Amino acid sequence: MKRILVSGGAGFLGSHLCDQLVAEGNQVTCLDNFFSGSKQNISHLQSHLNFELLVHDVCNPLSLEVDEIYNLACPASPQLYQRFPIETFKTSILGSLNLLELAKSTGAKIFQASTSEVYGDPQLHPQPETYFGNVNPIGPRACYDEGKRGAETLFFDYHRQHRVEIKVMRIFNTYGPRMSATDGRVVSNLILQALQGQNLTVFGDGTQTRSFCYVDDTIQAIRLLMDSSKEITGPLNVGNPSECTILELASLILELTGSKSKISFLPAATDDPHKRQPNISLALRGLHWSPQVPLQGGLIKTIAFFDSYLSQNS
Ligand code: NAD
Ligand code: UDP
Repeated sequence: MKRILVSGGAGFLGSHLCDQLVAEGNQVTCLDNFFSGSKQNISHLQSHLNFELLVHDVCNPLSLEVDEIYNLACPASPQLYQRFPIETFKTSILGSLNLLELAKSTGAKIFQASTSEVYGDPQLHPQPETYFGNVNPIGPRACYDEGKRGAETLFFDYHRQHRVEIKVMRIFNTYGPRMSATDGRVVSNLILQALQGQNLTVFGDGTQTRSFCYVDDTIQAIRLLMDSSKEITGPLNVGNPSECTILELASLILELTGSKSKISFLPAATDDPHKRQPNISLALRGLHWSPQVPLQGGLIKTIAFFDSYLSQNS
């Protein structure tokens, strides 16, 4: 049985990861300050003997005996992190620093949830890990993009200078049950709007693309990377290479919900990446991983989740 710390464990991805780690028989400590996560995401785990909640801000140092650390603490929704840019930047940098210090002192292996946002508005398409990106360092997205880039720098410096065993994953847009209903990401927004008969808000002309990966696929990749051999440090892209425009996503959600909602076009977000698609050949080669859940199947499960969320919260 391993002692595992999941920072950001009450969030969307973190709570699914906690489920998986507890099911595998590990002793899991979920660290969270509930900035964007929720007690509801982990309520089913609270009575489990192998699970404990540590309410803590990762910007503050901590001391704990652990074998493995997963760092997922950070707001991930553009609308949310742009409202709290300083907290977001501090969480990425100070949070990584504190957890890397913990990894150094305990000898624990440490995973970092990095992001496709390190590529900014990419000029190379699809994006391989070797691409250095195109990020505006002073724009409204920089708190997140540069925070995650700085965190990657810290991970690799702790690896080189202190031999800390690191696993850095660049996660592309992931969706599924337990996404926050209020943090403004496109999949949750459009599904909730469709289910409630409201206009679907598309920013810009809707021709911008994303490549959406279902949560189970991403969690499987995270576990495979953590268990991979020492030499595999990342950064490693994880996402579903099947790319679609935001307008195509909106149409599919209208079709799957049977909604009569219309689409309303709102101004494009500043510095919104125009295209995003992962090159996943490294994950294929190194982890023998590729996503299994097609967009339609994943959306059906996510729609069912938000449908029941609405009936419980109306
Ligand atoms: P989320 O907002 O649901 O989860 C983040 C969690 O971190 C929340 O529970 C939040 O309360 C917690 N948190 C935030 N600041 C904290 C702090 N200072 N101290 C302690 N806890 C704090 O987001 P998510 O989608 O689950 O993303 C999880 C991680 O994966 C994030 O680091 C995000 O950047 C990364 N990521 C996610 C995606 C995606 O598509 N979901 C894509 C790329 C990267
Ligand atoms: N978007 C949209 N309507 C919304 C929310 C987002 O059209 O209600 C767009 C957003 O401008 C971006 C894409 O959908 O082009 C994905 O946005 P999201 O916030 O989910 O994540 P991002 O990939 O930008 O981090």
